[in-house]
Amino acid sequence: MDLHVQLPISVAEILEKFDTAKYEIYIVGGAVRDILTGKVVHDWDFTTNATPEEILKIFPDGFYDNIFGTVGIKTEEFERPLEVTTFRTEFGYSDKRRPDKVAWGKSLEEDLERRDFTINAMALDKNLNLIDHYNSREDLNKKIIKAVGDPNERFGEDALRMMRAVRIATELGFSIGDKTFEAIKKNSPLIGKIAKERVKDELFKLIASPNAADGVMLLKDSGLMQEILPELIKCFGVEQKSPGRHHIYDVGTHLVMSLKFCKSTDPVTKFATLIHDIGKPLTYKKLDTGVITFYNHEMVSTKIAENIADRLRFSKKEKDKFLTLVRWHQFTVDEHQTDSAIRRILRNVGPENMEDMLALRTGDRLGGGATETSWRLEEFKKRLIEVQKQPFSVRDLKINGNDVMKELNLKPGPKVGEILEEIFKEVEEMKIENKKEMLLKKLKNLS
Ligand code: ATP
Ligand code: MG
Repeated sequence: MDLHVQLPISVAEILEKFDTAKYEIYIVGGAVRDILTGKVVHDWDFTTNATPEEILKIFPDGFYDNIFGTVGIKTEEFERPLEVTTFRTEFGYSDKRRPDKVAWGKSLEEDLERRDFTINAMALDKNLNLIDHYNSREDLNKKIIKAVGDPNERFGEDALRMMRAVRIATELGFSIGDKTFEAIKKNSPLIGKIAKERVKDELFKLIASPNAADGVMLLKDSGLMQEILPELIKCFGVEQKSPGRHHIYDVGTHLVMSLKFCKSTDPVTKFATLIHDIGKPLTYKKLDTGVITFYNHEMVSTKIAENIADRLRFSKKEKDKFLTLVRWHQFTVDEHQTDSAIRRILRNVGPENMEDMLALRTGDRLGGGATETSWRLEEFKKRLIEVQKQPFSVRDLKINGNDVMKELNLKPGPKVGEILEEIFKEVEEMKIENKKEMLLKKLKNLS
C-alpha cells in the first residue's frame, strides 16, 4: 500500500464488490490528485474492465443512461453518485457533443494513455497502490500541467483539452509545461471547432475560481482569448488615464483587475465584472484638453455582452442577469439622491441583483486603483436598505381611485380597488415607476 488514506465507506465498498466479482477496479481522475495533495476529495471516479452491463449486475441499482459507459451509483454518503466507467480508448470528441460509439479499452494502461494530462492520468488500485506511468506524481509536486504524450497530437484530437489545461491550471494554481503551452498557442484556433456549450462550461469554471484573474491572463497569453473572447483582447493597450482622474490601468488590465477584486462567487457576476467596460475601445475619444472620454460605453458594452452571451449559449436567466449588470454598472452614488432615484436604480438592476451589482462596483473601484469603498457608497448601501424597508402601500401610489374611474370610465365599486392593487403590485415589484404620468399611461393601456 503506497498511501494511507481513510476511504469513505461507500468507496471501500465499491472496490471490494468489484474485487469479489473478479474485476479490476481503480480510483482515477481528480480523486487521486486530491488524495495525493491532501485535499478533500470532491468527486470519486472509478475505472474498470467490467462492461456497463456487468457493472449493473454488481450494482443493480446503478443507472446507465449515457453512451460513455459511465454507470452512476447512488450512495447515502455522497450527494453526487459515484461514477464507474469501463476502460476507454477515447476521451473527448472534437466537434460533437457525444461520440457515435465508445470503444472500450482492454487495459488500465490503454485507459490512462488516453487521458489528458499527466496529473490526471494516475490510478489507485484496490490496495491503494499508486499506478503512475507518466511521472505524474512529480508533476503534481512541481505543480505543473503537461499533456500525456505529444501535446500537439493530443490537442489535435480534442481541442477542448486546451481550455481544460488553462482551467485546471487556474483552479489548482499550477503552471502549464512549456511544450504543452507552446502547443496551445499553436493550436488555439482549433477551439473554434468545439461545441460552444462545452467551451462555456470551462470558461465559467475558470471564472468562478478564486484565481480567475490569473486564469484570464493565461487565456490571453495562450491565444485562446483571441478565439473565444476577441472583444476583450481589443481592450488591452487602450489608455484611459485623463489628467486628474484616478485610472491607473489601460482598459483591459483594469477589467482583469476588477475581476480579481470582485468578491462574488457567481460566475455570471464575475464575468460581467470582467467585461463591464468592453465597449470602451469603440467609444474612445481624446479631447483637446487631453481628457479621454468613453461616452455611452455602457450601452456599447451591453451590446457586446449580448453577442458574447449568445455566442457562448448562456441560458436565458444567465444572459438577463449578465446584461443587466453590464447595462447599469454606471449607477451614480450621490448623497443628494432622492428616494425615487434610488428606487429607480433598484428597479433597473432588480433588487435580487443588487448585491452582485455592488460586488461588481467594488471590483471596479479596487481594479481602478480607488479605495474599496467611500462614505458615499456606504451611505448609498444604507439607503438601499431603508428604501426597501419603507412601508409602502396602495395609498402611496401617485394615482388614486378617481384616476382609475376617470381613465377607465368605471363607476365606484370593488373593480376600482382591484385595479389599484394590481398596479401597486407592479410598482412594488419595481416593474413600473411610481410616477403619475407613467401610471396613467399604464391605466390607458388597460382600457
Ligand atoms: P474535476 O472533477 O476536479 O474537474 P477531474 O480531473 O476529475 O477534475 P473530470 O472532468 O471529472 O475532471 O474528468 C475526469 C477524468 O477524465 C480526468 O481526470 C481525465 O483523466 C479524464 N478526462 C476528462 N476529459 C478529458 C478529455 N477531454 N481528454 C482526455 N481525458 C479527459
Ligand atoms: Mg471529476
